[in-house]
Amino acid sequence: MSVLATPVHVSEQLPSQASGQLFFASLGSGSQGNATLVSDGITRVLVDCGFTLKETEQRLARLGVSACQLDAILVTHEHGDHIGGVGPLARRYKLPVYLTPGTWRAGKLGRIAPQQLFWITPQQRFALVSLTIDPITVPHDAREPVQFCFSTDACRLGLLTDLGHASAHVISAFRGCDALLLECNHDTQLLQEGPYPASLKRRVGGRWGHLANRQAAQLLQQLGLDRLQHIVCSHLSEQNNRPELVLESLCPLLDGDESRLTIATQHHGKDWQSIC
Ligand SMILES: [Zn+2]
Ligand SMILES: [Zn+2]
Repeated sequence: MSVLATPVHVSEQLPSQASGQLFFASLGSGSQGNATLVSDGITRVLVDCGFTLKETEQRLARLGVSACQLDAILVTHEHGDHIGGVGPLARRYKLPVYLTPGTWRAGKLGRIAPQQLFWITPQQRFALVSLTIDPITVPHDAREPVQFCFSTDACRLGLLTDLGHASAHVISAFRGCDALLLECNHDTQLLQEGPYPASLKRRVGGRWGHLANRQAAQLLQQLGLDRLQHIVCSHLSEQNNRPELVLESLCPLLDGDESRLTIATQHHGKDWQSIC
């Protein structure tokens, strides 16, 4: 079931205008917790929340946002670094939660009032106030995982983490973005030589795990870089990656224009970026 919802909260505008632009910011990204803010100046949504309620409020405040200004929480999948803080935040602020039935059935969300739940159907575009949202199936070891593209008349933003490989479907769906928050989870050699048990190395490096730096670079080449104003590297493993290795993999693709490339960190996330 796909739902076109009337949100509980209608935001004050922050950023302060709707002009076809999109704005996004990361509250933090990595295996300890993920959350991303997306706004067009009218509607403001949080994608995932892997932080405690107090930490979420503090991280939102750092970006000039109060949780009561959110219109909804969108959930990509049931892993704890994405869903751990969704239930407390939704209950405290009575926020609508959008997720696939599979993610809900995985049972990690806790008690949520039925009127706060809205089903996402993968590949079925939906509107949330002024935002147009495409939920896109990704290859990841969760029940029914999706990632998202957000569109206005003028531009398109892709959020793409937690995928084991770049399927043809993913490449097709994320083509034409003006900005991309992209997983650069691990360096293949660091993962293989690192402290993880063999089973976890297989899981992280497998086709249903997480994207390596070189896979992220290949994906960017397949998507085309000309249109991308911002590439925000995210979900870096603290054990199996280093920012300089990410830059080493991706910078050669940028023809010297490395200002387009930034990294969302676990502790500080990424400040607001605007596109178009
Ligand atoms: Zn994750
Ligand atoms: Zn995951």
